[in-house]
Parts: sequence; C-alpha cells; structure tokens
Amino acid sequence: LKQHNGRHLWHPMAHPQAIRDTPPDIIARGEGSWVWDIDGHKMLDGVGGLWSANLGHSNRAVRDAIVAQMDTLPFYNAFRGTTHVKAIELSTRLVEMMQPEGVQAVVFSNGGSDAVEGALKIARQFHKLRGQKDRSKFISLRQGYHGVHFGGMSVNGNSNFRRAYEPLLPGCFHVDTPWLYRNPFTDDPERLSEICAELLEREIVFQGPDTVAAFIAEPVQGAGGVIVPPASYWPRVREICDRHGVLLIADEVVTGFGRTGELFGTRLWGVNADIWCLAKGISSGYVPLGATAIGAKVADAFLSDTSGLGAVSHGYTYSAHPVAAAAALATFDELVRLDVVGNAARVGARLQERLRRLPQRCAFVGDVRGIGLMIGIEMVTDQASRAPMPRTSDIPARVARAAYRRGLMVRISGPNLILSPPLTISAEEIDFLCEVLEASFDEVGA
Ligand code: PMP
Repeated sequence: LKQHNGRHLWHPMAHPQAIRDTPPDIIARGEGSWVWDIDGHKMLDGVGGLWSANLGHSNRAVRDAIVAQMDTLPFYNAFRGTTHVKAIELSTRLVEMMQPEGVQAVVFSNGGSDAVEGALKIARQFHKLRGQKDRSKFISLRQGYHGVHFGGMSVNGNSNFRRAYEPLLPGCFHVDTPWLYRNPFTDDPERLSEICAELLEREIVFQGPDTVAAFIAEPVQGAGGVIVPPASYWPRVREICDRHGVLLIADEVVTGFGRTGELFGTRLWGVNADIWCLAKGISSGYVPLGATAIGAKVADAFLSDTSGLGAVSHGYTYSAHPVAAAAALATFDELVRLDVVGNAARVGARLQERLRRLPQRCAFVGDVRGIGLMIGIEMVTDQASRAPMPRTSDIPARVARAAYRRGLMVRISGPNLILSPPLTISAEEIDFLCEVLEASFDEVGA
C-alpha cells in the first residue's frame, strides 16, 4: 500500500510531483475525536475532515441510519417527477431548523462547491424573474473561499486557486476583507468595519447597482486563514445590499451546523442572508451532501413566476441521495441529543483562551484568531513588524510534523496552522490538543 501511495491518486490542491516526493499520511481508522494511521499511530484529529467530521468518527447513530437506509432504499432520484421519503423528510427538517432565518425551500447537491454554484445561479435567476436581466455580477472578499467549480472559483479571493483555469466567469469583483491583523487602514475593529463596508458599497456603485446580482461571503472565513470580522460588519453589509437591491449569499459550508458555537454563522451577527450555502457538517462528513437554502424573498419570486424561466436548472443525479439524506437526518438528531453546538461554544472558548497565549511563548507566532472550534494560527518571521512567513519556509511543516509525532493531526495552509476538531471533542481532549501544540511550537522554536 505504501508503495502505491501518491502514485496514481492526485490530491486536490497539491502538485502531483510533490505528492510523489512526500507521500501523504495514510489514515486507516477513526473513533470519536481520534484517528489512527496505517502504522497504528494514534492521533487527536485537529483537522476534523476539513471542517466536516462534526460528530467525530464512527458515530453509531449516523452509521445505523446509513445501514438502515441501505437496507430499505439504497438509491433513488429526487429529480423532477419522482421523489423519496428521506428527501421530503430532510427538506422539511432543514427548513424547520432555519425558520429563524425564514428559509422557505432547499435545493440539494453533493457538496460545498455545488451548493455555491446553486446559490450563484439562483441569484442571477431571481433578478431575471423580476425583470432585471442585467444584474449578473458578483462581488466577494479577497480572502474568501467558495469552492472549485467555475462560478465558485471566479468569486474565490485567492488567485492561486484561479489562475491556472482562467478565463473565468466575467463580472466577478473582489473587495477587502475586514481583517484586523493585516489591513492597510487601522487597528480599530469598528473603524475597519466601517471602511470595508464602504469599500463594498463603492464597488457596487462603481459597477452600477443594477448590474450586481449578489455579494457572497463566509460569516467567518475558513480556508483564508480563519478571519473573524468585527461584529458590525455583517449588519452593515446587509444594509448596503438592501439599499442597492443586491442579494446577500452566506457561504456557510464551514460555519453551518455549529462550528462557530452558533448553529449558523449568520446568527453570530444577527443578520439574515437571502441564500445560504450548506455542506460538510450537514451530514457530518459521513456521506457527500450539499444544500442551497433559499429565503422568503427569493422563494417568492420563483413561486409567483409565470414566465416559464423559474425552473431551477441546478440539480444532480444524486441530489438528496437517500443515504446522504438519512445521514443528515441522523446528524440533526445527534446535534440536539449531544448538545453539539453548546459543546462547541464551551470547549471552543477554552481552546481560544489557551491558544491565544501562544504568541507570548513562541516568537514566530504572529496572530491567533478564531471563534468556537475554528482556529487559525498565523506564523510570521517577526512579531513586531508582522512580516509574513515566506512560502518557502519549512517552519509550518515542521510544527505539523512535531504535532503528528506527539499525537495530533493539524492542517497547514500557507503560513497558517488551522484547527477544526470534531464539535464533540471533550474538555480533556482540548487540553491534550493545547499541550501538544505548545510542545510542538516550543520544539521548533528552540
Ligand atoms: N465554501 C467554503 C466556505 C468552503 O470552505 C469549501 C470547502 N472547504 C467550499 C465552499 C467547497 O466545498 P466542497 O469542498 O465540499 O466542494
């Protein structure tokens, strides 16, 4: 097995030659917050299936729901004229869960990139249904991440994810993220929120408001390095979008289903989006599933359409796959039974509090930021000047190797070490995670 590792399987976001030169770690088993590699080495899973294994590994209830569905109806389509029991149950439950948001309908797909694509298409279609056929542009944030399909890639902030695939969707523009640690404006969060909101409004006005379909952003940015906006930013964004008739799309692929210590990220900011992108935690990573949730304003435009343009031409053979739907329904039950969101808030606060002391003990830790059970640790070459860690530095990888050896899986993304453990993680496991991480930074810093 080890001989074949990295030979035929090209990994997302990795150079095929790099995968050959440094074969990936092979994970063989998972249980709760823990995973074992092929050599039997046990590690706490600080990566959590890339923000998705929210219930931890081998959750019994989800497993039983999947097996029961396999024994009843392993597959059928929910496509045009046919549906199945679990598709109806899941759509009903999800809409119920999102009643504070006023969600009316949901379109299922197979993952986060699909959910984003659905949101972008439905936003354009909404304006067409209302007779505003020129509203086709999208605005997003420079550090935002929205998946790998052509629409999502076009609104991605980081050009590393885009440039090999250009030309992309025309009419996509990026504005500054309210990122306290790195911005050319100010160290005052309130002022930064004002400035970044104003930059968004100026971009809308510059483009011509009646050409802009939607603004898309993550309530807390994940892949961009875990960037939490100031509390007043999203309320300001909502106001601006309303003023100019622009839809607000919340990409909750990471933040949805409890990651931040709230069930949905928009709840952190007391703001409603018009469309939500959901995936990952929706099925706790057990089976691929994505969803685009549609609020009342957008749903009404479709329901009252008489032009014939209102058919949703976004759906897949496997939309609302019965096994994925069964896994999601069991996940929702477990979220309640295990008080997963409350746990994420409680142990998340413990994690945040302890790791925020890291810059005091380690000279190459510049910033520790996050909320709930999402944390980004940014490494720098100099704390005072905040000089970024160069891409060629091996320090981030050395910290990750030290943690691995000591029994902790972490993820490195550029200069950032990113943590997104299962939301069911215990306080004791959080303490273990912090101890290992501190020792690993000490070791590399020594
Ligand atoms: N949106 C966000 C905010 C994400 O973080 C991701 C994936 N990390 C996606 C979309 C794409 O999701 P997927 O990988 O399931 O296609």
